[in-house]
Amino acid sequence: MNKNYLSGRHFLQLPGPSNVPDRVLRAMDYPTIDHRGPEFSELSLECFKGIKKVFKTKNDVVIYPASGTGAWEAALVNCIKENDLVLMVETGHFASLWQKMANKIGINTEILKTDWRRGIDPSLIEDRLKKDKENHIKAICVVHNETSTGCTSNIKEIREVMNNLNHDALLMVDSISGLASINYEHDNWGVDVTISGSQKGLMLPPGLSFNSISEKALSISKKSGMKRSYWDWQEQIKMNDTGFFPYTPATNLLYGLKESLKMLDEEGLENVFKRHDRLAKATRKAVQAWGLEIFCLDENNYSSVLTAVMVPDKHNADELRKIILEKFNMSLGNGLSKLQGKVFRIGHLGDFNDLMLLGTLNGVEMGLSISNIPFQKGGVEKASQFLKESL
Ligand SMILES: *Cc1c(COP(=O)(O)O)cnc(C)c1O
Repeated sequence: MNKNYLSGRHFLQLPGPSNVPDRVLRAMDYPTIDHRGPEFSELSLECFKGIKKVFKTKNDVVIYPASGTGAWEAALVNCIKENDLVLMVETGHFASLWQKMANKIGINTEILKTDWRRGIDPSLIEDRLKKDKENHIKAICVVHNETSTGCTSNIKEIREVMNNLNHDALLMVDSISGLASINYEHDNWGVDVTISGSQKGLMLPPGLSFNSISEKALSISKKSGMKRSYWDWQEQIKMNDTGFFPYTPATNLLYGLKESLKMLDEEGLENVFKRHDRLAKATRKAVQAWGLEIFCLDENNYSSVLTAVMVPDKHNADELRKIILEKFNMSLGNGLSKLQGKVFRIGHLGDFNDLMLLGTLNGVEMGLSISNIPFQKGGVEKASQFLKESL
């Protein structure tokens, strides 16, 4: 392969950033407009209306020119005071990063450990909340779709546990990689703050992030939280009502957002979710046929966004990823922190279809046969058979 020129499309099969569709790229290829002018307010009001449909909320959604990490911080500083206690669940790498951030900005955290290989067991939270008679815990922070492990948690059940115990804590959920790929219901599930980002299910480049805010969280933020300026919800919401922002927004990314919201609407959100479920299932058929282990151990928690695949002991997943990148021009997700070298992650989210999946799986299968990882052939065949049968 001549490395000076790589023909065709690079396969970006990470669980985010995901492939940006041509329609979105074209929509962004437009001169930047005056963000204080009338054309801009029309654009942003449309974006706010559309994004609320995706979060399934009637309340405010704030859009930051920031990565998902920024929106994590925003959620915390608007509602939580220094030295307040928040409860988190260590579902994987991203949950741990959020906890580290909370500690850095002066929040006390308690983290419930798990083996990373399943979604959150709500009874873990229940047991801890039962002991918190004086409501010391101000928020429960959980990750909806843990992108490092391929396990999804049931958010509705977590809220039910909190409601049954009449616990006052806020429920904050990171759905950075879940939103717009798998079902998410901010209002119905009783979530107080949902955090998301642009570069996963929303099919945009990185650079936008979101806080979807319940009435309760908004009213708490008015009298609580930390000293803040850039992240302050009130400033944002006040300006957003008329379609403007307190500072220069990421104008061209908003052109992209308007287009991606339109695409989600054309396909229909529920169809988008079904497509993700089906492609994820086909992926698991392939992995099982290869005789490799899916990292997530509980079928009820299988993620439709990505599949983390274990390589057998003494083999290195990063070497496999390197072969696949060099020979077939495809990027797969790496194993993060304690999973480094132990798993590779196949992203099957966003702007993606049957043949793109089969190309992806074929790249993995060819990579496996070039590597010295023991496996059985026929994964692609199994996936393709399933795709045909489930048309
Ligand atoms: C991608 C991701 C993040 C981090 O978002 P950035 O945009 O990289 O800051 C956090 N949590 C989850 C679950 C993610 O998938």
